[in-house]
Order: sequence, then structure tokens, then C-alpha cells
Amino acid sequence: MILTYKPEVIFFKRPFKIAHGVRSSTDIVLTQLEYDGTIGFGEASMPPYLSETHKTVLDFLSKAAKLLSEFKNPFDIETIIKAIDELAPDNTAAKASVDIALHDLIGKLKNKSCWQLFNCEKERTPFTTYTLGIDEPEIIKQKLIEANSFKTLKVKLNGENDKLIISTIRSITNIPIAVDVNQGWKDKHQALEMINWLHDKNVLFVEQPLPKENIDDSNWLYERSSLPLFADESVQRFVDIDKIKDCFHGINIKLMKCTGLHEASKMISSARQLNLKILIGCMTETSCAVSAAAQLSPLADQADLDAPLLIKNNFFDGIEFINGKITLSELPGIGVIQKG
Ligand code: MG
Repeated sequence: MILTYKPEVIFFKRPFKIAHGVRSSTDIVLTQLEYDGTIGFGEASMPPYLSETHKTVLDFLSKAAKLLSEFKNPFDIETIIKAIDELAPDNTAAKASVDIALHDLIGKLKNKSCWQLFNCEKERTPFTTYTLGIDEPEIIKQKLIEANSFKTLKVKLNGENDKLIISTIRSITNIPIAVDVNQGWKDKHQALEMINWLHDKNVLFVEQPLPKENIDDSNWLYERSSLPLFADESVQRFVDIDKIKDCFHGINIKLMKCTGLHEASKMISSARQLNLKILIGCMTETSCAVSAAAQLSPLADQADLDAPLLIKNNFFDGIEFINGKITLSELPGIGVIQKG
């Protein structure tokens, strides 16, 4: 198999503010894995907090390309993914780009969609949330108009103007809200006070209220919270699930954190056994990586896969949202077509 790759940058339609600051673009790397004339597409997206860069991804992929050239065919996924994972301890986004391309390739060679390969029921896809970054009330009101075809919002909070943001939304609509704090509440008492305030405001759950290091505080909050708590930054890979199972009611699984579809599907099974709810999410990604994640979305309770709607230079056509519902196609693999 031949792995090729190139760095790219994707741009937000408008500057996007979350707890870590304001961003207008994200580095990505697009991969292609070729076998016998068929090409699978993959993508690595590098949010700053995972500390991967164009350079670290390209360095990893040069090692991965050498390794993959030694495999005669792509079908032994378990062995290939294990060998890729053992190339380096971290590089989860780079690994995900290989995993996604491998699954796309196998789907195309078998003429099956990945949702079929994972035994998913296509109709069981959840609705995606539509994300609102941290903004002034006037901008939030404008974004609510753009979001009016979606059934659920994801609202970013950071401990500064949280009540103003929620009150602004509630002055206009009672649409269900998922709150994502991105570790932005620094104190467990402040977090509990905010959760109690949010409780009667049609909030579905609160994602990553406290910094990921604060395991004891997260457990304290979990025992008192009147709203479900979901781990995002606190759970990256399969091995992390056990560590946080007494701190959260659910987990946010993202391909860029967990190295791809292969490990994500194992995390879903493990989380189900532990009675944890499952949210399937994404970083700032094109329709390539998001369409890959969407293949597993019938197995999730919630989805946050709106990244292609928030960027202006998408290199792929893929996942569609019909009135907010994730809509999978019959296309083989991850279901994407590269734009001209
Ligand atoms: Mg999050």
C-alpha cells in the first residue's frame, strides 16, 4: 500500500472563541492510501491542546508510509492499526488519518459503506448539535437565526459571561442546549452553582466542566450534579474510560483523540458495558474526518458533528444534515468525494 499526504489549513467562516481563546483556522493534513488503483481518504486535524503540528504529523506519516508499504493488502485491519499505533506513543491525529484512509479504502474495495462494515443501522443516526462559540449577545442572536434548522445547540461557556449567554439564547428560543465548558470552570463549587442554575433551562448535559487533572473534584461534582456530565478532554483513548467512569455520565469520542474508527468502535462497546452515554464529536475538520465519524453515529446517543458547517474551505463533499439529522449515504467507505 502507498501512503501519501499533504499539509493544508482550514478556515472558520468567522473567528471562533472557546475557553482556549479565539481561533480562525486549524492545521490539517490530508492523507491518501492507495492499493491496486483504489484510493482511501484520511485526515488529521490538530487542535492546539493535543500538541500535534504539521511537522509532527508529517514526521509520523513518513514512518507510517514506510510501514504500510510492507503490507501486501489492507484487509488485516487489527494488525495494521496495532503496528501503526506502536510507531509512537502519541500522534493520535496522525494515527487517525491513517485509520480513516484505511477504512475508506477497505469500504471501497468491498463496495460497502463503513456504517455497514460496523453493522450500524443507517436510520438510527442522531441529530447533530449546532455549535455557538462565545460571543456578544448581538452576535449570538444573529447566529441563532443561522441555526434555526437544527434541533439542538451546543453552547460554549468559559466561566465569564455564562449566564448572559444562556439568558440571551433563552430570550429567543427554548431549543434544547448542550453546554460545553472545555475545562473552563476552575472551581467545583462554581461548577455546581452553574449546573443548578442551568438545571431548569432545558439543558441536556454539561461537557467537561472542570480541568481534566481535577479527578477528585470531577467525582465530587458527579455525585451532586443535577445534569448529566460528559467527559471530553478527560477521556482520549480506550484506556482512559476506566479512569473516569466514576466522574462522568457519558463520554465524547472523537477520532482525532482516539486514533480513529477502529478504537472508537471499541470505546463505544466498552462505554455501553459501563452504562456510560456516548457522544460522538469532532475537532475542526473537513467533511472527510467528520463523515468518517458519522459512520459510527448510529451507535451514539448524541452527536456533535457540525464542523463542516463552520468552515469555509471544505475539500470534500460528504456527510449531510437534513434538518439537523445526520444523513448517511450509500457511498462506499466513509462516503466522501474529493472536490475538483
Ligand atoms: Mg468539548
